Amino acid sequence: MLREQIEEVLPGIYRLPVPLKGNPLKELNSYAIRGSGEGEGGKHLLIDVGFRTESCREELLEGLSLLGIQMEDTDILVTHLHADHCGNGPDLIKEGNKIYISRVDGEFILGNGKEDGVAVLHNIRVERLRRNGIQEELIQEMLASTPSKNLAPDRSYRDYTLLDEGDELKAGDYTLKAVYTPGHTPGQMCFEILGTGAMLLGDHVLFDITPNITDWPGMEDALGSYLDSLEKIDGYEVTLPLPGHRKPADFHQRIKALKAHHQRRLEECRQVIKKLGKARLYEITGNMTWKIRANSWDDFPPAQRWFALGECLSHIDHLKKTNQITQHEEGGQIWYEA
Ligand SMILES: [Zn+2]
Repeated sequence: MLREQIEEVLPGIYRLPVPLKGNPLKELNSYAIRGSGEGEGGKHLLIDVGFRTESCREELLEGLSLLGIQMEDTDILVTHLHADHCGNGPDLIKEGNKIYISRVDGEFILGNGKEDGVAVLHNIRVERLRRNGIQEELIQEMLASTPSKNLAPDRSYRDYTLLDEGDELKAGDYTLKAVYTPGHTPGQMCFEILGTGAMLLGDHVLFDITPNITDWPGMEDALGSYLDSLEKIDGYEVTLPLPGHRKPADFHQRIKALKAHHQRRLEECRQVIKKLGKARLYEITGNMTWKIRANSWDDFPPAQRWFALGECLSHIDHLKKTNQITQHEEGGQIWYEA
């Protein structure tokens, strides 16, 4: 990372672009807030830390050293449980310092005591895909290609400091206030930087890409939660949006556009179900439009099919919840009707 790639977005707050090699997201925006050196707000705060890879770690540490920031005096804050945001946390954190994450996402990462959270999630998701008629061979291919397994945080780290709505963190002269915005993940949080008009957004609002919304175990209607969270965040006066990927633009206009996007997708999904009659998940997903370079749905790379099926399920869940479609089950196999 070069010094000119680092942008000072507010006095003492820096955006560090961390390359995500081979990932369509291209880079993660990590943010560093310079600490004041003593007392409350004395430590630096690093927000979002990249995949658990050597290259993400090196890039980030290089950027920090250009700013004269050492991990010895730095706490970490992660906006949500996705590996590109939290993966490196345990490898970077030094003794006596904290990793903050929302209570909900933190508990997902910690898992159920026997298995880690990612494995628990995958098991539940796989069971759901089976009941929705997805072939076992495809399930195994998709599982082998999902990134979350090997890029996720070191499982032996258990010391996360869990945050709740309204909790405040001090870094330098700044105070960050936690705002729950569930949807992209069950416990995604945004952080208002009080008195500045700035808001750290994680992946809740992105500007030239659409945040992925998938189904989540324990969330009856993730897309509905996401739309509610867009409404919630729209109520804040945000003049400096700080997204987790790519560049920002007008905040309130983008929220409007994201809402309209999902309304269009919901209508498309409902129409596809209506057209198919006795509609199964695989065919519904394949009949929706996707911005992926492949000749047909069957040619989608497995990782892309995993995301597409999840996104489709989140739209199905919202249509179900709002009584626009009904779910039926016969012999352990689910189908939908509009
Ligand atoms: Zn994410």
